Amino acid sequence: MTLQISKVTKQFGQFKAVDDLSLEIPSKQIFGFLGANGAGKTTTFRMILGLLDATDGKIMWNNEPINYSNSDKIGYLPEERGLYPKLTVKDQLVYLGRLRGMNKNQVISELKMWLEKFNVSDYLDKKVEELSKGNQQKIQFISAVIHKPSLLILDEPFSGLDPVNVEMLKNAVVELNDQGTTIVFSSHRMEHVEELCEHLCIVHKGKPVVHGALKEIKRSFGKKNLFVHADFELDSLAKIAGVINYRAVPEGCELQIENEEVATEVFAALQGKGFVRKFELEEPSLNDIFIEKVGASYE
Ligand code: ATP
Repeated sequence: MTLQISKVTKQFGQFKAVDDLSLEIPSKQIFGFLGANGAGKTTTFRMILGLLDATDGKIMWNNEPINYSNSDKIGYLPEERGLYPKLTVKDQLVYLGRLRGMNKNQVISELKMWLEKFNVSDYLDKKVEELSKGNQQKIQFISAVIHKPSLLILDEPFSGLDPVNVEMLKNAVVELNDQGTTIVFSSHRMEHVEELCEHLCIVHKGKPVVHGALKEIKRSFGKKNLFVHADFELDSLAKIAGVINYRAVPEGCELQIENEEVATEVFAALQGKGFVRKFELEEPSLNDIFIEKVGASYE
């Protein structure tokens, strides 16, 4: 049950939105698909779902192209949210569920379970237009998963949600994954990706620039972050060879260093100067890696 994207290109006129993209996403992963605005994420999702034809290359799920015969196994939360505003939550979901081969009773029992999970049981008979944007998004999430898809594609699932609802949806994503759903999601929030994904890809101008296991990506990036909190002036650390970035913070400083060895130099430079409260070496954050690879500042 692998999702295989092989040498996929999408051209709009002369412009290549996706450029020779190859990715293999094994089943049961939560895979992060990242990139700056306009990098080609949504276009790739639309091609995976068969909503757009690739100019070149092919996409296979479980060794088959995705089309009407197997699309009931796939769930999609599109970037452009849209439910029928005048329909009740129940009527909306019954309609969508039946399109995917469920019967009315199945839909209603699943829907009640989800509404309860999301603490919105009283929304069953409300019209969509009566709900807040964030709550509409919960309903749209439910509409993407109610038929228990084996592949779930989520385009910016957490955008526009308050922190409590973000947690709720994140937990739902993890639970679905524990039950065996393969999940591919895009996000501009690097901390969500760090939390949920073991594997990811960063696309830049339609091409993958980073791809693999998060741990390995971090390790091979080379550069590290070093946090020093002390009761004395730390400015001089900025001059040590191998210190790429120096940022003063109220308690001390945060350094980006070329590699681990530079930490030894920094440690030596602190000796005999006074009291050091914190000296901590960390892997780079995904945000650091993203900014370097894509060259854009982010949110
Ligand atoms: P964002 O993070 O902003 O949602 P994205 O990575 O999802 O961005 P896409 O929506 O895939 O980016 O767009 C990729 C590029 O393709 C953009 O430059 C966009 O303008 C272009 N594009 C997308 N759809 C079309 C279309 N139908 N016709 C022409 N150009 C398009």
